[in-house]
Parts: sequence; C-alpha cells; structure tokens
Amino acid sequence: MNICEHFIKLPFIQKILQEKKNGKLSNGYLFYSLDAQTNSFAINALATGLICKNNGCFICEDCVKIKNISHPDVLFYPKEKSFSVFDAKDIIEQAYKKPILSDIKIIAINDIDNSSIEAQNKLLKIIEEPPQNVIFLISSANFDKVLPTIKSRLIKIEICSFNKEEIKEILEKYKNNKNFDLAIIKGDGYIGKTLNILNNNDYNSTFEFCKNIVFNLKKSSDVINFLSYRLDKDKFNEILEILSSMYRDLLVYNFGKENLLNDESLIKDYIAVKNEFSKTALVEILNLLNEANERQYSNVSVNLLFETLLINILEVKYTCR
Ligand SMILES: [Zn+2]
Repeated sequence: MNICEHFIKLPFIQKILQEKKNGKLSNGYLFYSLDAQTNSFAINALATGLICKNNGCFICEDCVKIKNISHPDVLFYPKEKSFSVFDAKDIIEQAYKKPILSDIKIIAINDIDNSSIEAQNKLLKIIEEPPQNVIFLISSANFDKVLPTIKSRLIKIEICSFNKEEIKEILEKYKNNKNFDLAIIKGDGYIGKTLNILNNNDYNSTFEFCKNIVFNLKKSSDVINFLSYRLDKDKFNEILEILSSMYRDLLVYNFGKENLLNDESLIKDYIAVKNEFSKTALVEILNLLNEANERQYSNVSVNLLFETLLINILEVKYTCR
C-alpha cells in the first residue's frame, strides 16, 4: 500500500469525505503541521477521495490521473518553487472554467506560506468568493506566515504528528530499509522527516558518531578524535539535532521518567552514564546545543563551532557535577 492509501483512511480525511456525501463540503480547507510532506500527502489523499467515484480506490482512471498530476480537474500549485502572483492569476483564470471529468474542481496549493504577501493577497478574493464547485485544498508548514484573512476563509485542520505505530504502518513499504527502525524513532512522527532519514545513507554513521560523543567523550584529549569527521552545515545541523535528542533523553531518564524517552533503545547506555551527568549539567548542555544551533547562521565556521561545543560540553559536565 502506498502512503496516500494509508492517509485516506485517517479520520480527518474520512470526515471530509463524509461531508461531501452529506452535501456539506466546504469550499476551502487548510491543512497544517510542521512537516510539509505530511501536509502534502493529506492534500493528495483528500483530492483523490473527493474526485474518485469509489471514494479513493487508487486504481480507477481518475485516481491514476491524479497520481500522475494529469487530472484536468485537480490542479496543483505552486507551478515553480514557491507560490507566486503568476500562480494566483492562473488560479483565478482556471477556477472559472467548468470541471471536465468530475462534478467538482480541486485547486491544491502546497506550502502557501512560502510566498509573498502580494501573491497571497491576489488569491484572497477568489477564496472569499469561490465559483461554484471549486474546492481549495491548501497546506502550510508555517502557519504563522499564512495571511489571517486567508486563514479566516478556510476550515483549518491541524495534522498532529503520528505515533510510532501509526507511522510504521504508513511507511510500511520502507520496512526493509536498513535505517527503518532508527528513522521511525528519530522522525518525530512526521512523514517528511522520517523519509529524509530513510533516504540518508549516512544517517546511521552520524547517529553512531553522536552516540560516541554522548557516551564516550570523557576528557579533553578525547575531543581530537571527533574533529576529523567531515562537516558541512547540513551535517552539523543533523548532529546538533541528534545530540539534543540524546541529551534530552538522558535528562528525562535522570528524572526517572522512562516513559517519556524518545528513544528507548538506548536505555542501557543511559544507565551506564547516569552518574556522569548531573541534571544541571544536562540542562546546560542543552543550552549549549541551542546556542550552537543559533550561531551556525553567523559567519563562524561549523568546524570551529563544533570544537568549541565539545570543549564546552566537557567543561559543563565537570563543573556541574
Ligand atoms: Zn479511484
């Protein structure tokens, strides 16, 4: 089963499909979560369910056309990288043309927040007074950047992150990927984040590298062992994120809240180093990681930031015993 087929079964999609059956479909829905790909799958699944005469069978001609982005009544935007005034103009033109194969016309806009205010404003009028049978399915991974006037015209649906069991099921077709278990844990319940890890061949080695820092960095002469790792901004970011999650778990564990761990598979390692880190030290280390995260956008080299970070972690570990 592909990801969209799993999505269509989700209650918030089924609820809207039911609204259509009851003749209560709204003219516009705004899906939002922190993960652009999660939002995009929701839009695709809903568009399929609304257009397909079998409520989303994924095999009929309509379904296949939607999948191939060639259905005349399901139009996807932005046409280029981000939503533009040109897209908005095209939407206004297309919206007044009657649907060809279906009884409704769907205008799907991914990442509406990734656009100028001008482009969103241009879209506003057609969302306020949409032609009959036109349905807007819009998504945003940055809810605050959607114009309030647009938000107020749409039914807003927040997509919460999935739990580990749900995401395992949704992404079942990747279950033979060597990163699968790790990706499920580290993907935080979001499709895009999990897929990124699944498609990242290096993730496993970066993860082991971070484990080494957390559990084996004990004295200043150890620091040098970690500096030969090839770093660029993306890799540094990934390392910061993994480290934050591990130190956060260690803190959670030190508070005796085992049930709140992100990654239970490391529990033996947490037990082994429990007495090396005071709670104060862990809080300070998490602050250091935050600071490093902010400073990477300045002009300091990531290699220097990384070295400073490791030395500071050691210092905090010993001064806050
Ligand atoms: Zn179908």
